Parts: sequence; structure tokens; C-alpha cells
Amino acid sequence: MTNIIISVVLSLSMLGFTKSKVKQKPIQHKSAKAVFPDVKVATYKITYDLKKETAKVHTKIVFEQSQDGYTFFDLVPETDFMEIDGKKAQLEDKRIEGVTKFKVTNKQIKAGEHTLEIKNSFDKLIDFGTQGVKSAFWMSDLSDRRYLEQFIPSSFEYDQVKMYFEVQILNANKEHRLFTNGKITKLAKNHFKVKYPSFYTTSSIFYHLVPEGSYKIREFDYKSIDGRTIPITVYKKSTSSNSLLKFKTATLKYMAQLEKDFGPWPHDFFIAYGVSPFQGGMEYAGATWTSFRALRHEMDHSYFARNIMPGRGNSGWIDEAIASWGDDDYPQYSTPKATGVASHSPYRRTTDRNAYGPGSVLLGVLDKKFDSKGGLKPFLKDYFERNKETVISTPFFQKEMEDYFNTNLAEFFDKYIYRKRSTRGGFGLSQKSKTRHPFHKKHSYKDLKAFL
Ligand SMILES: [Zn+2]
Repeated sequence: MTNIIISVVLSLSMLGFTKSKVKQKPIQHKSAKAVFPDVKVATYKITYDLKKETAKVHTKIVFEQSQDGYTFFDLVPETDFMEIDGKKAQLEDKRIEGVTKFKVTNKQIKAGEHTLEIKNSFDKLIDFGTQGVKSAFWMSDLSDRRYLEQFIPSSFEYDQVKMYFEVQILNANKEHRLFTNGKITKLAKNHFKVKYPSFYTTSSIFYHLVPEGSYKIREFDYKSIDGRTIPITVYKKSTSSNSLLKFKTATLKYMAQLEKDFGPWPHDFFIAYGVSPFQGGMEYAGATWTSFRALRHEMDHSYFARNIMPGRGNSGWIDEAIASWGDDDYPQYSTPKATGVASHSPYRRTTDRNAYGPGSVLLGVLDKKFDSKGGLKPFLKDYFERNKETVISTPFFQKEMEDYFNTNLAEFFDKYIYRKRSTRGGFGLSQKSKTRHPFHKKHSYKDLKAFL
């Protein structure tokens, strides 16, 4: 067998309970409301044709609409076909001025359960070659509309969705391998089915389809502190100078460190795709593509970011601050400065750049403040343990911290986190804060295509 078999432990969320703590308010649209959906199940049939050099997806979504009105979704490529409850419909652009753009349906529907069917093609991050097709769903939280919607129809970060992929490559002689963070079943040659854990959102999925043979792979196990055997895959391009042995040693080391700090590894696997130095990395649930230097940072995100997940751009700073603080080995600081990291529109989807350096300084200040009560690390462990596999917001994180330390942090959060930073003073967007934590570089599609 050449495919990865990943076992998934049955958890509450797999039985259909989702625990999102973030809800997006409806927005006035035309003469009615447009509503953010609660997607229950999304099934994607993705077909690549090597001869025609096409990638097409047929999506079926079952969703709950909380009130009458239009519905928001997102999809960057054009649709070829769309129906809601079996009736023809279309997606139109909806712009939130100065913030983001997504799609809205052109038909109003009643509150209740509905089905959406969409067909579209996508062409981003695909390479059709003589050996086969390479395709990846690389994502970013630093540029807008860079989650699943780049390729396939999707809901938003607040929404936990049961997702199924069926992936087929037509007219290919060579076998393909799919690196992905779900449970893969190989149906036939170049035909896979994947079931993803149901706590996932639009930012969770690691997806990298490649022809066999052009990558070097190392597979090994890690024994978790809770007794589980965690299968780990590290891989790189055959032409890359990365040492997989170095990646293996570091992965095992960081996994032990993270388990000690925050409890058992919260996924049933780990996948790391090693890319060249100075490229930073990107986190996924139990997976990453990363340069060697950013490996610890991206693994930290398998706890904070892709297990406890930010529900919108305003909460994206929390996991970046935690991961960056850990990169620096949890220093304490005395002087907080206004960051404005959660001062943006609730519809913004990207993370404020101040999340890294300035955000981690705030955690160092709080750690010092609560030193006599054990500091921030035990809180983070407790917070993680009680909020696994959920979507959170900044006010929720604040309340958790207030409850744990039995104190009121309204003034601190208002001043340093919620309030818009002034253009003078504070950290602003200084060069220093941009460059201090270079683990999430902004990548163009051209940069990302080089990682295929
Ligand atoms: Zn990060």
C-alpha cells in the first residue's frame, strides 16, 4: 500500500456536536438580510484530467439557515452550475468595504435546512506535468480569501464542518500519492476518498497531491504521553537539500516539549512537508509545510490555531502570540504596548501583523503579572484542555483568563488589544515587528507554486 492510512479517534465532534463559540451577525443585503450559514456536511468530488489539464469539483453542501434571507458562502473561481434545494441559483459578489469580499446567493430562502450544489473548475497551485499532476490547497491567514475558497466552495472560519473529499486523477499512468490530514481510503489506482475530523473549518485542511516517486518520505511513530502511537510523516522534494533525519529528530523533540507544556498531541497524526530555508511555514490541523527553522512554531499551531481555532481575523492574534512567545522560550516583559490586534471589523479574515512580536510581548507581560499565581503557561494548558476542537474569539479568551486568575482584565484588553492603535507610538507596523517573527511570510501564488 502506498497511501497513508490515518486512524481517527471517535470524539464528541465526530458524532455531530460542534462547539463553535463564534457567530457572525447577518448583514443587510438588498431589502433583506444575508445570513452566515451553519454547514453540516460538505462533500467534494474533485477530478483532475491529465489529458485535458483540468481540475473540476462537484460540491454538495447541507446547511442550516438560522433565519429567512440570502446566504453567504465563498468561492473565488467562477461557478459552472449551482442549485439550492434543486432550483437554479447563482453566487454574487458581496463586498464589505475596506475589509473583505465574499459571495452571497441570489435567492432568499426560509430558515431551516437546505442543500446547495455547485460545480466549478480551479487552476491555482496546480501543475500538470509528464509525470502526473501536482496540486495543493496551500493557505494563508495573512492575505484575504486564502482558505478553501481559493479552490472549492466553502463556509467561513467560525464554521465547523464535516468534510469528505473524493479525489480522482483521470488519464494518468503513474500512481499518485495524497498527503492530507484526514482518513484516506484508496478506492482504486488514482482514486481516493478522504474523511476529515468534523471539528475542521475552512482553514484546517492540508492537501498535497503528487505523483509517486518525486518526493523523499520518512515515516515513524511517536509514543504520546497518553499512550497513543502517533504516526508521523515527514517528506521533501527529492531535489531538496533538507535532511529528513534532522526533521525527524526535531519533530520528536518538539512533540515531547509541546506535550509537556500543553498536554497530549491533539491530533492522531502529524505530517510535515519540509520546504527550503527562509520560506517560513503554514499551519494546518496536525500538519504543516515548513522550513526547518519554523518547525516548532508550526507544530505549536497544531494546538493553538488548528485545534483551538480562531473564528475570525480578530482572534487570529492569539495563536500567533502564543507560538511566537514559545519560539522565544516564554520570556517575561514589564511594559505592554497597544497592539490593536483585535480592533478590526468582525468580518475581517486576516490576522493583524502585530500578532507576532508585539502580541507575544503582551503574553510576557501577563506572565509576569500572574507570576505569583503560576504564570501564563499553566493557564494555557488548562485553557487548551477545556476548549479542544473548538472555535474561539478574543472575548472568550479574555474571559477564560479572567476566570482562571480570578481577576478583571477589561482595562488591559481594551487598552492593548481591542483599541485601535494610534499611528504614532505603540508598535504600529514598524519594520521591527514585521521582521521579528518571519515564520509566516506573505507568499504570492508564484512563490507557493514553487513548493508544489
Ligand atoms: Zn504562526
